[in-house]
Amino acid sequence: MTRFQLPDTLRQHRPLLLTLEAIGWLHMTGKAKVDFLRRHGGQKSDYEYEKWDELENPPFPWNDRLNWVKDKFALDGNAFPATLTEFIRKYTKRDKGLLGLLQAGHAMASGIEKNLPSATAKYLGQDAAHMWLSSAFGHPVRNLLADPPELLTDVGWKRLLGQIEDLLTELQRLGNNSFPNDLYGWWRWREDAVGPEGWLRKAFTSTLAETRLPNNDITLFDQSYVAAALFKSAVAGAVLEGNSFPWSSDGLKQQTRWRLLTIGIGADHYEARAVKIGDWTGARLALDEFFTKVRKLVEVDLAIGSLLYADGEACVFSFPGERFDHGEQGYQGGDLKIADWQSWLTEQIDGYARDANLEMPPYCGISEPSRSLVRMTAEIRNARETMAVPLFRNWQIPGQDSSDGHVCPVCHVRSSRSSTDKQMPCDPCKNRRTHRLDMWLQGKFGSDTIWIDEIADANDRVALVTMSLDIVPWLDGTRLDALRTQAIPEWRKFNPVLKNQPNPIDPSTCFDSLLQYIKGKLQSFDKDDPVLSSLQEGYQHEIDWQSFFTKIVEDRTGSHQWGDIDENGRAAWLTHQLFCKLASPGRIYRFWRQAEDFFKALLDEFRDIASADQNCWRVRRLVIKPDNGSSGSWEGRQTYSGRYGDAPVSLLYREQTNDFLTICNLARLMKAEQGKDSLCEIKLELKADDSVETKQLVVHSTAEDTGALDIYHPVIPLELSPVRFRVLLPLEAASACVDRAVEAWRGQFARVWDRLPLRVGVVAFPRMMPFQAVIDAARTIEDDLDRINKSQTWRVAGCETRDGVTALNIKSLDYRQELLQTIPVRLPDGREDVFYPYLAVEDRDVRIPLDFRHPDGRVFRHVKDLRSGDCVFVYPSLVTTVFMNSAARRFEPLDIRSLTDWLRMRDLWRLIDRHAPSQTALHGAWSEIIERREAWQGPEGTWLEGGKTAWLDFARAVFHERLGVRGACLETLVAAAGDRLLDWSLEWHMSILKKQVSGGDR
Ligand SMILES: [Zn+2]
Repeated sequence: MTRFQLPDTLRQHRPLLLTLEAIGWLHMTGKAKVDFLRRHGGQKSDYEYEKWDELENPPFPWNDRLNWVKDKFALDGNAFPATLTEFIRKYTKRDKGLLGLLQAGHAMASGIEKNLPSATAKYLGQDAAHMWLSSAFGHPVRNLLADPPELLTDVGWKRLLGQIEDLLTELQRLGNNSFPNDLYGWWRWREDAVGPEGWLRKAFTSTLAETRLPNNDITLFDQSYVAAALFKSAVAGAVLEGNSFPWSSDGLKQQTRWRLLTIGIGADHYEARAVKIGDWTGARLALDEFFTKVRKLVEVDLAIGSLLYADGEACVFSFPGERFDHGEQGYQGGDLKIADWQSWLTEQIDGYARDANLEMPPYCGISEPSRSLVRMTAEIRNARETMAVPLFRNWQIPGQDSSDGHVCPVCHVRSSRSSTDKQMPCDPCKNRRTHRLDMWLQGKFGSDTIWIDEIADANDRVALVTMSLDIVPWLDGTRLDALRTQAIPEWRKFNPVLKNQPNPIDPSTCFDSLLQYIKGKLQSFDKDDPVLSSLQEGYQHEIDWQSFFTKIVEDRTGSHQWGDIDENGRAAWLTHQLFCKLASPGRIYRFWRQAEDFFKALLDEFRDIASADQNCWRVRRLVIKPDNGSSGSWEGRQTYSGRYGDAPVSLLYREQTNDFLTICNLARLMKAEQGKDSLCEIKLELKADDSVETKQLVVHSTAEDTGALDIYHPVIPLELSPVRFRVLLPLEAASACVDRAVEAWRGQFARVWDRLPLRVGVVAFPRMMPFQAVIDAARTIEDDLDRINKSQTWRVAGCETRDGVTALNIKSLDYRQELLQTIPVRLPDGREDVFYPYLAVEDRDVRIPLDFRHPDGRVFRHVKDLRSGDCVFVYPSLVTTVFMNSAARRFEPLDIRSLTDWLRMRDLWRLIDRHAPSQTALHGAWSEIIERREAWQGPEGTWLEGGKTAWLDFARAVFHERLGVRGACLETLVAAAGDRLLDWSLEWHMSILKKQVSGGDR
């Protein structure tokens, strides 16, 4: 069999592919200058952003820095544009060759929805006083002209140009010198610019690609990066097709398609098998290193695509695809050999997996070609479903059939070296634990700890907090159905005349009138139609309905082919898609980044919350020198534990320096006012991890570590991805962290609260609880919360709009719960927000001007138009807490509550804290009413006839008498007793957090 040659072809073209990717990142650089925003904000200026290079003095040397690539790679005579500045001048036009491919990538990334005719969309512009960057979910982030980020200052612009020049100089050096295989150099060059901490990523993320509402939600980076990824993959495809690629075709912009490459690893299996936390975090490191190797291969070595999505289990990259009409007679172009790529790539990543001793095979999939990224979710789902079976394909690992020693307790595959010690892991599993320790000792984890003993709070308790936003339906575009890019009545109001004729749409019945209008036009295609050509710039260039429909509907929804639906369906889809926000690749990329950034920002705040303590020893470590009187020899990198008084002590022995590093919560050993010497001469009885033998340590002296390990944050992030955030915290800090998360979610997602729910689980546990039991409990919680993935019906009980905010009061039909939600309905510039805050309603009729109907029949209504009695559909935000006082607790059913109940439960404790005269009085009152409840309830907790009312009356009397509460406060307590919120609050605060009431405010 002949060797598969195409990877080598790409490698020979690496400098070309990466240069063109860089051109993709930079093709809209002119928008990064403040003048671009000023001009779009209506201020007089002759700034032409497509000529930003010429306007510099001296001119920016764009051609000079890039011309080498033209000389080095001959390609076809039609490939390169006349001058390389055409890439920054003409990227929105339609040309042949490489320029045509950039135009294709640019058009796909920015999305068709932006392509509004400037005259009819003028009213959507923002003026210079209000030039806002918004989040992808409508939350105003920054007024870019009033409060400019560094990039938009003169200094920032100059700095950017300097950095771009450095980037291009280094590119030329790498591309043109004698080390074309300096993979590390290429990788660093790319990572420094667009990697997670890249300077270009940071700069371009701070400003806009498009200033009009509501497309001010996508940053310059999102669009540039995704356009560059698509451009790069398209060029890689052209290189692979070789001589048969139709360089001279002017249809490249419209006909180019892409595939998606998905690489996955069944990370959940590693987590489920972990015996100790180090097994999981160590495996996580191995998996992260695997994914980094994959990125190096795809993004730099082959330079065939770029990362478009990543979580802990899967990575998705752009990949070349065949153009339209592939497989039909007369198709111009060569064969991409996708099947060969699939097997070659699988072989490569299998090699990486074997190098890392991974016990399960990695997944590799290449999608069908398409002109959108909405298939991405399906690709990821497919990968996950396949990987749910650990050995979904044949996978042999070295040492798995060895008969020496016990089978390893972690991987259950290989054998350990010991035939007596059942706890001893095999070498690779042991190495993963050690590797993580090494990295920590080198300070590579920043200030976060890796030790649960350092996390444990004053009561020796820890919390695993898990959170998720229901982000997946956003990535495939389904939850965008409620968001508008224009509201029909607003468009009608601002465009009373179209092409010198009165706008034919009836303003009193906008939606139906437009739907009927479009339906009436489907018989023949009229490219001069005044209505349709005012809604979409591209319409006038189309030749028939079907190709227009392909771009507006099929490209963006992943289904609903023209041929599969009747005229009503076609009209409904066109009406919907022409006004709805669309899942453009740039926007999907932004959803992913934003979900992850939300958790990252929370993690930063959690670090602060978890470290706040009156006792400064909470976050400090000491180095302990043993006295000569200490017994025996100590083993390097071994952890030793014992007790000092009531407090647990854990130490790590370091052989090189013959000392111990504390790895426990020192605030439990030392008072704030005590100095480090207070530990001198104390004697500790210590046991090594997994050993029964006791040794004595006499402390000779203590010192503060001078390296990176002196101060820590008592936080262990276990996972942070767009789909899941898991973190270990001191239990006493967990409540404040959850409070903060709820507050942040309410602030940032207020406009989409009904369709982007926050789900929170807290597993509280004593420090010594086995990690496997804890992680098992967390997974159960996550599964149970995920299972509630249907919307619930709630009835509107009240709706009032005042000062730009709607207060919506809704009641659930099934749970008798009540929810008060406030939703901003005004934009920062004073205009009404007609883009984001729509709710799905049960009503099937369009009744109010802003109402609209999805083609599947669902009607959406602006939140301010809701009336009492309306039924709305809400994806619920939920919370659940578990206290694992035993490992078996994880098998008991969960009590899942609405997220607002968490806040009520916390408020209730504050109220009790303020009013209860003493802890004894509170305990007494509570046990008395619990006792009586049991008497009035049957075995399954069902009330005897009239029991509940009688019991609540009894509770009222007890609260009144024993706690001395009166009035509204008393009624709140009684109501909370009735819906068991009081049980939760008292259990959580008194039994689990061991809190005491402060004794009343007398
Ligand atoms: Zn093992």
